[in-house]
Amino acid sequence: MSMINGFSPADAERLSDKERSLIERRERLLGPAYRLFYERPLHTVRGEGVWLYDEQGRRYLDAYNNVASVGHCHPRVVEAISRQAAILNTHTRYLQEGILDYAEQLLATFPAGLERVMFTCTGSEANDLALRIARHYTGGSGVIITRFAYHGVTGDIAELSPSLGAGISLPAHARTVRAPDAYRLGAEHVAKTLVEDVRAAIADLRAHGIKPAALLLDGIFASDGVFPDPAGFLAEAVALARAEGLLYIADEVQSGFARTGANMWGFQRHAVQPDIVTLGKPMGNGQPIAGVVARAEVIESFGRSVRYFNTFGGNPVSCAAGQAVLEVIRDEGLQQRSAEIGAYLLQGFQRLAERHELIGDVRGAGLFLGVELVSDRQSKAPAAAQTRRVVNAMRERGVLISAAGPLENILKIRPLLVFQREHADLLLDCLDGALSEVAG
Ligand code: PMP
Repeated sequence: MSMINGFSPADAERLSDKERSLIERRERLLGPAYRLFYERPLHTVRGEGVWLYDEQGRRYLDAYNNVASVGHCHPRVVEAISRQAAILNTHTRYLQEGILDYAEQLLATFPAGLERVMFTCTGSEANDLALRIARHYTGGSGVIITRFAYHGVTGDIAELSPSLGAGISLPAHARTVRAPDAYRLGAEHVAKTLVEDVRAAIADLRAHGIKPAALLLDGIFASDGVFPDPAGFLAEAVALARAEGLLYIADEVQSGFARTGANMWGFQRHAVQPDIVTLGKPMGNGQPIAGVVARAEVIESFGRSVRYFNTFGGNPVSCAAGQAVLEVIRDEGLQQRSAEIGAYLLQGFQRLAERHELIGDVRGAGLFLGVELVSDRQSKAPAAAQTRRVVNAMRERGVLISAAGPLENILKIRPLLVFQREHADLLLDCLDGALSEVAG
């Protein structure tokens, strides 16, 4: 049998006829850029709360999805979307109250000083707009990112997303800094390393005649490998960048909306003040809505000289979804839940680490968690093949997670914010089993 969509013949043989036919149709219709998760891809037909269901009615605990963050098909979000879709759905060039009500509620979740919002449809577009704003404001073009960053798919932003693979080459105006990897650098060196790297990047840009415009960082460093600690490590690097005239763009597409625990925003963990914040993913619980929040002065200089119109960005249905998400986070106490269940899971992973040699490190903030697998604790040699096997073993056991990091040896675990203890226990149980299976 020939390879289908990168699956080995052994994998393909385990597929049902229906699955095989869907894979072949995808390849024929969508081309090869689309990748599927898992050796045995999952055919999802329905979602509800923390569960996704396949065609046979088997349910999977969703510990991966950072989009349907308040639960798949949350009734309040579904109701808000359908109610608004039945009344009006146009664009932002008419006077409407919904977008303003939502903008007020959204901005109220930010620290003082971040007081304007512009809407887009995707996180990539938000980062693209943020970059344009930063370049306009500073008159520079240089951007500093982490070595294995992911910020999105537009032309300008894909270039600043080295994690997209070898097909991406860094542009002349970009410089990278090492990931704040407390496990490998040592916790006490993280802040210092980052500040040294940012200083060197600024100097090197200038030495090449490039004026730096922005320091663009993911609030949880998801693609780099999930790095939350030690809290506060960003402060010095951000202060340096701002003192040097760069804007600090906090990419909160992953770390926003209570994902990292009691804080609504990931940057708050580090007690830093961004100039621009980009939002997306969980913002509409699946309805495409994303945006840029910024200091008034920064956005105004751009807006006065550049007209902005985004056909779908900030439309009434998307704003209704966004508003419902904020209300659910508030009314269901999800910031607190994220902190509590996240801490519970972290303790659970630490207990597993006592019995499973494969676990080199466990880390996380709120419900964004990383479990780094190594084949040798002394040398910290990444256990990429085993990580892949654990991810697939978890899928077979009915729990969805993934892997992150340049070597894909870090289990990336992002349970929905509505996880209860029983769901956390199920995840821990399955991980225990999957780790034993892979080690044995
Ligand atoms: N920034 C980060 C940190 C992301 O993880 C992503 C998406 N994975 C994006 C930006 C891009 O968002 P989108 O896919 O909505 O364009």
